[in-house]
Amino acid sequence: MFLENASIFIPQPVFPVWKGDRTIEVLRTDLLHEVVSGNKWFKLQYYLKDAMDKGYKRILTFGGSYSNHIVATAFAAQKTGLKSVGVIRGELSPKNPSYTLHHAQQYGMKLEFVSREEFNNKAKIASRFSDYYIINEGGYGILGAQGASEMLTGIANYQKYDFIVLAVGTATTMAGIINAASLNQKIYGISVMKNNNSLLTELRQLLNMPIDNKKYSILHDYHFGGYAKKATQLIDFMNMFYRETDIPTDFVYTAKAAYALKDLCVQNILTSKSNILFIHTGGLQGNMSLPKGLLMY
Ligand SMILES: *Cc1c(COP(=O)(O)O)cnc(C)c1O
Repeated sequence: MFLENASIFIPQPVFPVWKGDRTIEVLRTDLLHEVVSGNKWFKLQYYLKDAMDKGYKRILTFGGSYSNHIVATAFAAQKTGLKSVGVIRGELSPKNPSYTLHHAQQYGMKLEFVSREEFNNKAKIASRFSDYYIINEGGYGILGAQGASEMLTGIANYQKYDFIVLAVGTATTMAGIINAASLNQKIYGISVMKNNNSLLTELRQLLNMPIDNKKYSILHDYHFGGYAKKATQLIDFMNMFYRETDIPTDFVYTAKAAYALKDLCVQNILTSKSNILFIHTGGLQGNMSLPKGLLMY
């Protein structure tokens, strides 16, 4: 619906030494837009279509102060001519809104700040916004997965990849990729949170097939301390990965997935001579919350 830059569907080969005799190609959804995270865009498209089909004029969604989903929703709603409200967790009327929220406001989103307790009762908040179309936090849901499938099916010959690696938050994107994948492909989702034990169940709720029909696995050992933690080892890796591939990653999501990509190659879990697709899900705006000078890009 919004895709002006179809060339993102041509994955870019990269040649870090640790790839050995494997072929690694990167789907650069980060190139879609400098602020809007690539996968968020895909996840939103069918929600917006559904909202318009049902005659809604307004969107309500939820997120934290640095949420890629909040900015993406603000932008996508504006593009489609819908009004949007973002309910923001845990920061009551901040004096200096984060650049993420600042961007969201620039895209026309109205922000409602609520306490953490209030935020957890989304049904209660939603009842105050009765004529709004509601999109879950992070875009979690069936329609989100349906949109995310198009990240894979937009690639000509996407069946040629043996392995697909991507970062996982709510697992909506991963579900879409699994739904679209062919039976020979194995998908590795890298959870960016620590001990997110309900993730597999949440993923499976979005699959459109018996749960063991396809090959997939969520890896929980690459969180670097937890969600949005700024680990020195991770920052060092981001600079190294950039030197090796010319590809910038973000510290919240894609750097952890890229680190796992390397580790799975080194361990030969992504086996010799295999064809690998790494999905860069975007999110680079998140790096603006890092101290200046840490990253070489
Ligand atoms: C939100 C986000 C993810 C996680 O996507 P889910 O569909 O919630 O698993 C991954 N990468 C980036 C850059 C994101 O912004």
